[in-house]
Amino acid sequence: MSEKVENLIRKEVQEINAYHVPNPGDMIKLDAMENPYSMPQSLMDEWLGLVRQAEINRYPDPSAARLSATLESYMEVPDHFSSVKNKVILGNGSDELIQIMAMAVAKPGSKIMAPEPGFVMYNMIATFVGMDYIGVALKDDFSLDMPAMLVAIETHQPALIFLAYPNNPTGNLFSDDDILKIIDMAEGLVVVDEAYHPFACESFMSRVGEFDNLLVMRTVSKMGLAGLRLGMLAGPEKWIDQFDKIRLPYNINILTQVTAEFAIKHADIFEKQAKIIRQQREWLHKELCAFNQFEVFPSRANFILLKVLKGDATYIFEGLKQRGVLIKNSHSAGGVLTQCLRVTVGKQEENLALVDALKACVE
Ligand SMILES: *Cc1c(COP(=O)(O)O)cnc(C)c1O
Repeated sequence: MSEKVENLIRKEVQEINAYHVPNPGDMIKLDAMENPYSMPQSLMDEWLGLVRQAEINRYPDPSAARLSATLESYMEVPDHFSSVKNKVILGNGSDELIQIMAMAVAKPGSKIMAPEPGFVMYNMIATFVGMDYIGVALKDDFSLDMPAMLVAIETHQPALIFLAYPNNPTGNLFSDDDILKIIDMAEGLVVVDEAYHPFACESFMSRVGEFDNLLVMRTVSKMGLAGLRLGMLAGPEKWIDQFDKIRLPYNINILTQVTAEFAIKHADIFEKQAKIIRQQREWLHKELCAFNQFEVFPSRANFILLKVLKGDATYIFEGLKQRGVLIKNSHSAGGVLTQCLRVTVGKQEENLALVDALKACVE
């Protein structure tokens, strides 16, 4: 590295390994929790009509007011909880919302906490904004280790705690009682990250406003609009107003505003797709169990984590790749993810191809 880079760039940044997303080429893509279905042709034409009218020479609505209202209603954000008024803020994916929250609380010594293994962006964004990250190990069954969580909260007094519900990459829902205890114990903000809501069908959204420090985050990525980059954070107005001050103006571009508005109007189509994916998840779970050489963890999301008990995870990952199926090798994360693979639930034919390719590489 050049001396100039070493002098100028923060040490923590120099040490980051860039987030690596493999190029899938024309492989079957079961690595990134995307919805495998696209919009039906009939809708596509109507959508293109709207895109044609979008005034891309103009700045978009800076607060995306109409889309905010549509999402608030579709995602059932309670307008208020007794006297507490709730609000939402939109982000360029929930990733941007995590970053906005972190920037708002980043003071020397302030901390972000999350269970481990968890969503990698919590840790990465803590580093980006110069905060400390505290990871608290989950128990072997991937439930929250409550004594450890409570001690860590006492000790570190994190400004932000993230709880992915369901958790990525383990796929399970944490117990509601545990989450409520954490909300109660924490002085800082607790963000329940419901990225996989279309597949979990459980939510803390109706409780937004009930607790002073609870925020609920959603995204349209996993429901089938990952390309739009759109996330939503709901919470008491007093917090959202502060976050909104550091949101860059126009963070939701015109094409996203128009497209998301249109997609939510046809939400029934995405809900039908989510239902098929939930059914396929159960099918794939059974098929994977039938190998009798994986520990297949139950999932409430659109992916399944499995541990290779007989054989080697990296060998299987590479074998699948050679056979044109891309999944996620979680083995390198180490710890409880040693020998683990994560597969996204795809279309029926893709899941079949995965099972066939797996049979070929474990023989
Ligand atoms: C995929 C994922 C997200 C990503 O959200 P974007 O809206 O695409 O930025 C957020 N949280 C968790 C836990 C995820 O797995």
